[in-house]
Amino acid sequence: MLRPLRLLRDIVLRLRRARRRRRFPAPRAFRYERFGGIAQLGGRSGWPQALVFVDHDRAQHLGYGAPPPGLWPPSVEPSADPASDSSQAPALSAAAIDDLLRQPLSAPLEAHLQLTNRCAAGCKGCYTGATVDGAPQEWGLAEWCRALDELAEAGVFHVALGGGESALLPWLDDLLRYARRRGIVPNLTTSGLYPDEVLQRVCRLAEQGLFGQINVSIDGVHEDYARVRGIDGFAQADRALVALRRVSPDVGINCVLTRDTFSRLPQLFSYGRSRDVSEIEVLRFKPAGRGARREVYQNSRCSDEQHRALLPTVLSLSRQHGLRVRLDCSFTPMVVHHQPPRQIVQFLCIYGCAAGDLLVAARSSGQLSACSFFASTSARVDRLRAYQKEPAAFPEFQRYRETPPEPCRSCEYRALCRGGCRAVAQHIHHDAHAPDPECPRVIDWQARTAMTQPTQDPPAAQPGDPPTASATDSPAGSQPLTQCAKRRLPVLA
Ligand code: SF4
Ligand code: SF4
Repeated sequence: MLRPLRLLRDIVLRLRRARRRRRFPAPRAFRYERFGGIAQLGGRSGWPQALVFVDHDRAQHLGYGAPPPGLWPPSVEPSADPASDSSQAPALSAAAIDDLLRQPLSAPLEAHLQLTNRCAAGCKGCYTGATVDGAPQEWGLAEWCRALDELAEAGVFHVALGGGESALLPWLDDLLRYARRRGIVPNLTTSGLYPDEVLQRVCRLAEQGLFGQINVSIDGVHEDYARVRGIDGFAQADRALVALRRVSPDVGINCVLTRDTFSRLPQLFSYGRSRDVSEIEVLRFKPAGRGARREVYQNSRCSDEQHRALLPTVLSLSRQHGLRVRLDCSFTPMVVHHQPPRQIVQFLCIYGCAAGDLLVAARSSGQLSACSFFASTSARVDRLRAYQKEPAAFPEFQRYRETPPEPCRSCEYRALCRGGCRAVAQHIHHDAHAPDPECPRVIDWQARTAMTQPTQDPPAAQPGDPPTASATDSPAGSQPLTQCAKRRLPVLA
């Protein structure tokens, strides 16, 4: 289809969707925070999709000048004229933003809900270890509605519904409607690996405007798919992508990147463009579920060389194909390795580890965790607010924020990156407080300082990994960080 025709089709789809969403309250538009608040753009049409952090002045300018008592500092004066233009207000200083990012938000922006752990596909790296029978004591509709009540009261904007395979649940449509009634936008990640009648039902739900974004998990095209997943499901996933894209403008691809398929990203982007997807989200392979098996993780995780090449590769493909690309939170160390100006990282809201702060997750039995790849807490998601008030809530993440280890402690991106992926650190070092062992800065720092902290389960060296540290390396502090990032990317400079 020609580009103007595609644009026209999407405008029609968006208008139709906004009309159908009128049956529900508009999604939450704003949430007060100690620094001002968070505004959700898009309203019922869902476009443009964005959560924007604003300071006190801008919040008041938007008409939100009545925060809960005690939330804003007493020094904040209400604007004499709320309609006055605050666009010339001084931006928050870098130190103020760092300070702000060191403390958790009042509530997560998003909750990842693993509605079921049932899935018959049996992918070899499944991060939830999903099985045909699912997990014991899985929650049903009533419990998940109760969880949505709690999340709505807390001020959560979005839920990401995953599994297992949530599309198989007979009560999915009731849950979607309930989320909409509570002002929460439900997004879906789906494998597309199910019979026609299930796909038709998901398409009907998408047509009714119940979902925000839908992403189909496609880790590679044709045989690349099978190389990552160990099953040949590309044709079925492709059929689901095509069917969903026909009825919704916000359908994208989730791609878990592996060392085997890194060089095949051009084929994936080319495929994404041919299917006219709205975005490609590239995710780091996580050592969780079946993906934590030693041989699976060692063979699947990207090499250090690939991590360093990730950002220029995806930026170039994004420009070439005119496709929006997103990198998941755990790739932040690989982004800041290229030394982008911090203001740009802040402006684009590129956060690293968001676990237990910007996001939380829940297992299929309702057990709360800081993120989908991390061990559960003893609390359930329908008690989120009470758990967050506990002094030791999400302790590993709290401890990292308060006492980050080197080299993160002296890293200029620390407040944004937050030490990279705690799940990878936990898996490799058996210590969630350790810095992300796959961060290029950490690797360079270790090489320079010949740091020999004992690791109980170090990743085996793979082709493309850097040489191990030796006592003959340059002394600490004699070189700037990330020697390999010699040039700033033109797009970020
Ligand atoms: S541990 Fe942190 S960085 Fe890793 S996936 Fe979870 S939220 Fe993202
Ligand atoms: S050194 Fe730590 S804070 Fe800095 S980029 Fe690496 S993981 Fe992130």
